[in-house]
Amino acid sequence: MSMKTKLAILGGGPAGLTAAIYAARGQLNPVVIEGLPSGGQLMSTSEVENFPGFSEGVQGPVLMDEMRKQALRFGTTFVSENAVSVRLNQRPIAIVTEEQEILCDALIITTGAAARKIGIPAERTLMGRGVSVCATCDGFFFRGKDVAVVGGGDAAFEEAIFLTRFANSVTLIHRRDSFRASSIMVSRAQANPKIKFVLDSVVEDILDGGTGSVTAVRVKNLKTLTNTDLEIAGLFVAIGHEPNTSLFQGQLELTSRGYIKTFETKTNIPGVFAAGDVQDDRYRQAITAAGAGCMAALNAQWFLDDLQQEASSTNTTSDTICETGATPSQA
Ligand code: NAP
Repeated sequence: MSMKTKLAILGGGPAGLTAAIYAARGQLNPVVIEGLPSGGQLMSTSEVENFPGFSEGVQGPVLMDEMRKQALRFGTTFVSENAVSVRLNQRPIAIVTEEQEILCDALIITTGAAARKIGIPAERTLMGRGVSVCATCDGFFFRGKDVAVVGGGDAAFEEAIFLTRFANSVTLIHRRDSFRASSIMVSRAQANPKIKFVLDSVVEDILDGGTGSVTAVRVKNLKTLTNTDLEIAGLFVAIGHEPNTSLFQGQLELTSRGYIKTFETKTNIPGVFAAGDVQDDRYRQAITAAGAGCMAALNAQWFLDDLQQEASSTNTTSDTICETGATPSQA
């Protein structure tokens, strides 16, 4: 089965849905291949308090549902399937899902990134109930509480320092006794009286004491092999992110960390745009993803306008050539 559209959008998180809203209102009738499960990282977030327009906050899944309805209202088609391969260097561009091939003149990639996880069962069950992968998003909920951050890179240090604005204390748990983070970040954290360090240690378990919310972490010292329970209300996992770019390897220019290289959402292939966390390893916010989705939709619209103009001027030119060429021989 195959369908052809002017604009396809790969990914149905805030970047993809904002791109769809703009493109649909621009009469492009976009097709969003939203993947399964759809909605991106906000689907596993509870309260979102920093997305503008919601003075009382909004649940992540509710926000995504509203964005999806808004995109539908203006004429977006949703394909609830995963893409399994893409061919970006052919015209039209092809996206192959489990069931069909979608051909398009322009493509916006918004496949996002995933925060790396420790990989213990309680991390999943308590995600959004004291476990978080984003201090900017959730730090505010831990005013006056004791929290911990896992990781030894710049992100862990940045999160730990940021969390001291709200938390009573921040314990940084790292599996080694030296850090990947830059020395300036390490010095800043070491000078901060609210930050404590638990080194050579890993999180063995996250405990809720039957409350349904984090109450402690069980930490194992890898040198002494002893376990200690640390009473905390929040655990921030900051051990890196993986951009969802495996489909594009060998076809698109990626950064050394595997993110799509963009300039104002344009990739190295004309007509292929990228927005959101798949091309942003710095800000990673729903609102920055949405903003980039808007930019990508406008860029795609201008690209398609140019394409149409080129096609009509080529037709005019070839008609002219045909007419002028035909006239003498007929004369
Ligand atoms: P990162 O530099 O890759 O660091 C990941 C950290 O998590 C490492 O310390 C690693 O331990 C630890 N880790 C990985 N897997 C783990 C696991 N399963 N269990 C426990 N610990 C685990 O990632 P990042 O901190 O997210 O930073 C990514 C990039 O963004 C870096 O280049 C960083 O410099 C940059 N960044 C810069 C800033 C800034 O300049 N302000 C802020 C944030 C990020 P090991 O060290 O033992 O491998």
